[in-house]
Amino acid sequence: MLESPHVAVGAAIATKIPNPLIAIPLAIGSHFILDRIPHWNPHSYTETQKNGRVSKNTIVFALTDVAVSLAIGFYIASRALPDYRHAAVILAASFFAVLPDLAKSPYFLLNQRKGLIKKYVDFERSLQVETKFAVGMTVQLLVIAASFWWIS
Ligand SMILES: [Zn+2]
Repeated sequence: MLESPHVAVGAAIATKIPNPLIAIPLAIGSHFILDRIPHWNPHSYTETQKNGRVSKNTIVFALTDVAVSLAIGFYIASRALPDYRHAAVILAASFFAVLPDLAKSPYFLLNQRKGLIKKYVDFERSLQVETKFAVGMTVQLLVIAASFWWIS
């Protein structure tokens, strides 16, 4: 799944559950559950296998996703202000919600494609349930909308 829905769900969890000892494990767990919902992802892995690196389009798509994720995370966290502690927990949960994907970046960005990192990338990939672009993007927009609805 893209990072934006992961962040929206992680931030929503911490909005509802301000205790970081509960919110952060739930945010991490939500990542693996969301990846089981049929979605569309850019094909970083296939491109890496085929061309040795990800395409320019995928990089632009991923950077846009990161920008949207940051906007969602900081927006939801800002709603907790002036409670800085709660806002910090929301930002932390947003981060931990995407950590399972961030952990794959050495594979794609630093050419670390063997050993434990390869095993982890293969495992994370095995969890993905992919579908066609239009359906997969709609599902992810609905996940983001549901997160905002939950905390509204
Ligand atoms: Zn993932």
